[in-house]
Amino acid sequence: MSHTHAVVIGGSMAGLCTARILSSHCDRVTVLDRDTCPAGARERAGVPQSRHVHALLVRGRRELNRLFPGFDTLMLERGAHEIDFGNDFAILRDWGWERRRPTGMLTLFASRNLIESTVRELFGKLPNVEIREQTRVTGLSMAATGPPRINTVHLVPRDADEPTSIRADLVVDASGRASKAPNWLQELGIPPPPETIVDAHTGYSSRWYQAPDHLPKDWWWKGVWLDLKLPEHPLAGVLFPVERNRWIVTLAGVSKHYPPKDEKEFTAALSQLRSPVVADAVRLAEPISSVYAYRKMANRFRRYEKWKTRVDGFIAVGDSTCAFNPVYGQGMTTGTLSAGALDECLTKYGPTHPDLSRHFFKAQAGVQAAPWGLATGADFSLPTTEGERPKGARLVGPYMNALFMAAIEDMTLRRHVGEVLQMLKPPSSFFTPAVMGRVAKGTFRRWRRHQSEQPAPPAMPPTPMPVV
Ligand SMILES: Cc1cc2nc3c(=O)[nH]c(=O)nc-3n(C[C@H](O)[C@H](O)[C@H](O)COP(=O)(O)OP(=O)(O)OC[C@H]3O[C@@H](n4cnc5c(N)ncnc54)[C@H](O)[C@@H]3O)c2cc1C
Repeated sequence: MSHTHAVVIGGSMAGLCTARILSSHCDRVTVLDRDTCPAGARERAGVPQSRHVHALLVRGRRELNRLFPGFDTLMLERGAHEIDFGNDFAILRDWGWERRRPTGMLTLFASRNLIESTVRELFGKLPNVEIREQTRVTGLSMAATGPPRINTVHLVPRDADEPTSIRADLVVDASGRASKAPNWLQELGIPPPPETIVDAHTGYSSRWYQAPDHLPKDWWWKGVWLDLKLPEHPLAGVLFPVERNRWIVTLAGVSKHYPPKDEKEFTAALSQLRSPVVADAVRLAEPISSVYAYRKMANRFRRYEKWKTRVDGFIAVGDSTCAFNPVYGQGMTTGTLSAGALDECLTKYGPTHPDLSRHFFKAQAGVQAAPWGLATGADFSLPTTEGERPKGARLVGPYMNALFMAAIEDMTLRRHVGEVLQMLKPPSSFFTPAVMGRVAKGTFRRWRRHQSEQPAPPAMPPTPMPVV
């Protein structure tokens, strides 16, 4: 290992995972963040999305545990809930209540604050890393000679009026979906990478509650997921249990049907969901926050892998390259997978190799393609979604609907869908002859039984809900 210094801009989930990998390949890693890192699982200004529900997928849990051994143990000690979504959630889909079935895929339900603070604590134990808080990055510079190479980061540190700078052998942008890196590159005369945006005009409103100590005996569920159903029910609603016996309740709307920001209207909107189960639950709970709103949730892919300009010494990771409509909860997990891709590239090329950026961007785009396809595919099922529709979207949308319908009764398919949604298998696995055959069989069965004439589902989740 030569004497190398890597600088990571942004000390959030993607930044910390990337910095963890860099710590094995560089002598020194410095993480810069404009925020103060709170002690413990507290909110901070730089990640306003932490006020909203965050699902950590099975794959993400696995990867975080691999990057930060001890993560799981600490999370469980600190009150994260271990949940089998197929068994422990009351889930109301378009067609009715999903039947309970243990999947053996256990996810952690916790606040994003707890996830990030646990990762940060474990990261801080590494010997060759430093997090510089209250340090805002304002630009980049290139080496004066040789091929274009970023080698300096400009910043305004805490308690200082004057900007200063630090040198780096490798600079990583992990400053999130609102990253200014494209502007910083432009200031150096480097055209930024092309960008693809797919916007379903989605919005969240969330409120936190202290859950009651005792729940009605027949409530078998630990969480609730109510899909929307257009046009009568334009809002979806979820209740996620998090540490310290709290619930986060999030309302989500699409196609500019934004959920209310006002407390009274939020409570009223809960009663208008497709089932009163969430409204009933919060009636027993104590609100412990105001209503938080989030609106900038378009899918945004900065295509660094298609970047014509070759700039060494610079890579970008996480939401700063590819941010999703969070409906499938893929952001944090995809960040861990980018870190894995970087590990492979660093092992092969080392941190200062001129080909590192090019190879990494290609590898990372490969990792991001599947979650991007899933998130934008779902959004393109709405006619109001803006963005360039990929070729084949018209065929894939109806096939995916048929697949989800067939998975209601076909437990092999249902497990497969679960594995794809937990990012354990790629969505391309939906297109094998075996899976397509099952979808065709299921569709034929439903057609024979005239499923479309089925009665409306009951308002409340059936109690008891038999486990199939
Ligand atoms: C409403 C919502 C719900 C979501 N739900 C889920 C979910 O259920 N599951 C899931 O996996 N993902 C979810 N995500 C995505 C998830 O939050 C992100 O993918 C995850 O936080 C990783 O992002 P990141 O580290 O790339 O960037 P961010 O978390 O946005 O962090 C960027 C960091 O950069 C710092 N920064 C920014 N600019 C500068 C600067 N100039 N100088 C220094 N520091 C800077 C910020 O302070 C911050 O710490 C959701 C996102 C949203 C918006």
